[in-house]
Amino acid sequence: MSSLVGTLKVPFHRPLTGDEEIQAVTEVLRSGWLTTGKKTAKFEQRFAEYIGVRHAIAVSSGTAALHLSLSATGIGPVDEVLIPTTTFTATAQAAMYLGARPVLVDIDPATMNLSVPDAARRITPRTRAIIPVHLGGIPSEMAEIHDLAEDHGLRVIEDAAHALPSAYRGKCIGAISELTAFSFYANKTLTTGEGGMVTTDNDDLAARVRKLRLHGITRRLGASWDYEVTEMGFKYNLTDLQSAIGLAQLDKCDAMDSSRKQIAQRYSAAFSQFAQLEVPAVAPDRKTSWHLYVLRLNLEELRIDRHRFIQELEARGVGASVHFIPLHLHSFYQAEFGYREGDLPASEREFRRSLSLPIFPGMTNQEIEHVIWAVGEVTQLWAREAQKIRSA
Ligand SMILES: *Cc1c(COP(=O)(O)O)cnc(C)c1O
Repeated sequence: MSSLVGTLKVPFHRPLTGDEEIQAVTEVLRSGWLTTGKKTAKFEQRFAEYIGVRHAIAVSSGTAALHLSLSATGIGPVDEVLIPTTTFTATAQAAMYLGARPVLVDIDPATMNLSVPDAARRITPRTRAIIPVHLGGIPSEMAEIHDLAEDHGLRVIEDAAHALPSAYRGKCIGAISELTAFSFYANKTLTTGEGGMVTTDNDDLAARVRKLRLHGITRRLGASWDYEVTEMGFKYNLTDLQSAIGLAQLDKCDAMDSSRKQIAQRYSAAFSQFAQLEVPAVAPDRKTSWHLYVLRLNLEELRIDRHRFIQELEARGVGASVHFIPLHLHSFYQAEFGYREGDLPASEREFRRSLSLPIFPGMTNQEIEHVIWAVGEVTQLWAREAQKIRSA
């Protein structure tokens, strides 16, 4: 097995785009209509059916989906928005685009999602919304979040950038809260290169997001050239070229989902044998998309830290990553909002010991085996070194 060192390289991610996507894009290029049109309308309709929700509005990115969702609910200056610190910066920046203040919340170590008790402690008279992020695809505590939101009059906007397809108590993520934002960035579970989607069951919110997506314009019915600008909107539409890719990807969404699930099962079966490793746990009332496979290290049992663990994997040809550096540890959030290291201790603890392993549908059997071998070898090697120190 060790003969594979230096030969096989497993990237952290490789998108599954092939002939279907190429054909779909070619068809659009030949059609003479490149921007938002029939393909986008069809992608929205098929996406809404897939999720089980009334409306899906396609946009140019997940960040745009978050921005428009917050904007449609009327979030604005001086409003506070509760956001888990363990997320991508886009979640908080979308609130900042509207002049709102992101209030960072610590995580629940079990799921690495927003801690509901910690969110409750951070509510002030200015708190207007809460954005749960389903990290890696594992759904947040939605029942508790909705209870908290109801008690304090908060809007719930889900960041489902990782959560296609995920489910909570039998309901698809995207069909639970007022508004949900998806991302189709290159490494997400469904990709259009760049892209996003807002889902909602609310007709008024859907209409608002649609209008804000394209310059705040309303069509008038009198003549084909006639329209009216009724407010300041944005340029956030998704092109038919991208929607054609999205439609081809949606056709394989279930197949891609079951491949990721099989990889995760093989990883967990292999890694749960090691006391030095902690595999992801998914509560029985939830289904994860397995966008990420987050492995956590029991650092007391290893001679090395997470950074070195990733280097050791890289030396064996395995690409790994970290999701995420808590927002409050970035210089911008510290300078702008006064956060400091130590403010959100659970997120920092989990950050220090977590890494994300390759998990994507096109992974070959050999690649999966190679990751399992590399993780096992690094673990055993540095567990022995830790043992030596303890017994010395
Ligand atoms: C990718 C991502 C986003 C932003 O999506 P884009 O399509 O890149 O704008 C937002 N939140 C999280 C948690 C993400 O991982």
